[in-house]
Amino acid sequence: MFKFTKFFSTKATSQDQPIPGTSQVPNSAGGYGWQLDDWARLDRFLVLGSEGGTYYVGERELTIENASTVQRCLAADGLRTLARIVDISHSGRAPKNDPAIFSLAMAAKLGDEATRRAAYAALPKVCRTGTHLMHFAEYAQGFGGWGRGMRKAVGSWFNDKPAEDLAFQLAKYQSRDGWSNRDLLRLAHPRAASPSHDRLFAWAVKGELPAGAESDPACQLIVAMTELKSAGDVHAVATLVRERRIPRECVPTEWLTRAEVWEALLEAMPMTAMIRNLATMTRAGLLVAGSSAAARVAAQLRDPQRLAKARVHPISVLSALMTYKSGRGVRGSGTWEPVASVVDALDAAFYASFGAIEPAGKRMLLALDVSGSMGSGAVSGIPSLTPRVASAAMALVTAATERDHTFIAFTAASGGYGGQWGGGQSGITTLPISPRQRLDDVVNAVAALPMGGTDCALPMIWAEQNRVDVDTFCIYTDNETWAGNVHPSQALRSYRDARGIPAKLVVVGMTSNGFSIADPNDAGMVDVVGFDTSTPPVIADFARASGSHPILS
Ligand code: CA
Repeated sequence: MFKFTKFFSTKATSQDQPIPGTSQVPNSAGGYGWQLDDWARLDRFLVLGSEGGTYYVGERELTIENASTVQRCLAADGLRTLARIVDISHSGRAPKNDPAIFSLAMAAKLGDEATRRAAYAALPKVCRTGTHLMHFAEYAQGFGGWGRGMRKAVGSWFNDKPAEDLAFQLAKYQSRDGWSNRDLLRLAHPRAASPSHDRLFAWAVKGELPAGAESDPACQLIVAMTELKSAGDVHAVATLVRERRIPRECVPTEWLTRAEVWEALLEAMPMTAMIRNLATMTRAGLLVAGSSAAARVAAQLRDPQRLAKARVHPISVLSALMTYKSGRGVRGSGTWEPVASVVDALDAAFYASFGAIEPAGKRMLLALDVSGSMGSGAVSGIPSLTPRVASAAMALVTAATERDHTFIAFTAASGGYGGQWGGGQSGITTLPISPRQRLDDVVNAVAALPMGGTDCALPMIWAEQNRVDVDTFCIYTDNETWAGNVHPSQALRSYRDARGIPAKLVVVGMTSNGFSIADPNDAGMVDVVGFDTSTPPVIADFARASGSHPILS
């Protein structure tokens, strides 16, 4: 008998061929997968960005692909695109706001009339700080000049703020990335909304205290900054900082090595600044084991309400944890003795920053793609935070929520390339990791695993062969599968048949490419975006939902 079905079968198709009768497309690794629709890809871009590129696609090409997606979304439905940008930015779901700011600039410059107007109206919602606004100006410049709409929107950004808030923004973010408030105010040229606004604009443009500032309550921060310049000793500086609530950005750098100054700064320091300055405060001698400052910092890091209010993203916490724990700066900015209670509090803050998650109560298999391509690139531009180690951290959040979970890591073979090419043993490693371990230990354990080719079908094949009961497979991957004899979606159907369980598959996308291993026509498979704070609750909801769909084939 000639085995026709060896070459043409809908149940078992080699990953270097598309499943017959489906809309699969070639991925970047030589395998076949599904093309993500533009709206799903827009979400991936808004959350993951394109900084650093991927193993297969350079930063430049990945940015062009993603920007083209934004452009297609804008052409299809400008207001829907804008709503997505505003929602993801405003809810703080993304590690970085820049992809949203860039997309907003595209909407403002390339959208239709209604979209442009709405984009400018959304400017203060997406650009919440002076830095965001300067980035918007830079991005918008790539798509056009300073037309009337742009001038009016930027002018309103300054004018619509209460004068005291404006003083804070102008003082704290004076210039960033080649732009300054002075540039923006000169280009937008707004007519000041009040005498206080007028004084603050004059200060931002000329750099001198204007007449009447001393007696204007809204100008007290800039008055205090002037006094700070002539303060002669550390005690006077600390007193001014404490009493006038001066932020770190407004303190001359020569004072930022002193514990007394940092102690004063800490009193009104926002969460994000605190997380970013842990090493500096330790080096300055403020954070010492057993000190009241260390206790205060640890208590704040463990406070879920504070974390939520400040929109602290778990990836920033993870990055801070890895750097702080190491005791040395990434860019050679010295060494310090990390305080254990602060490291532990950062670990707790990572989980707390996702908010409360209702467990699904299902049997979960958390499968990490640890193939070679996942070890390339830096999530959100954070050195040493590759997709493979960051996905371990994401998976731990679901593990902390779901009692019944198993961790595995997969490559096509244990030492190198396997699957149908190598003929070697499938590279499945059961991972003895747990949310009770500290994150940095988990990250180190995952980073040390051997890498190889990619077969995203392995988790389902492994569970079927080993008679492991799974309700929901969560696969953390870049979707560049290529080294298997069956496609992941086929392996899932085979698993459902073999175990009699209507198992579901959640594909957690770890890069902003346009591929998915999830079959869009199967309601039991879904795509979500890695490093999105809403991903763990979405996984729980999807796993919990009772499937009325006919997924048992
Ligand atoms: Ca791979």
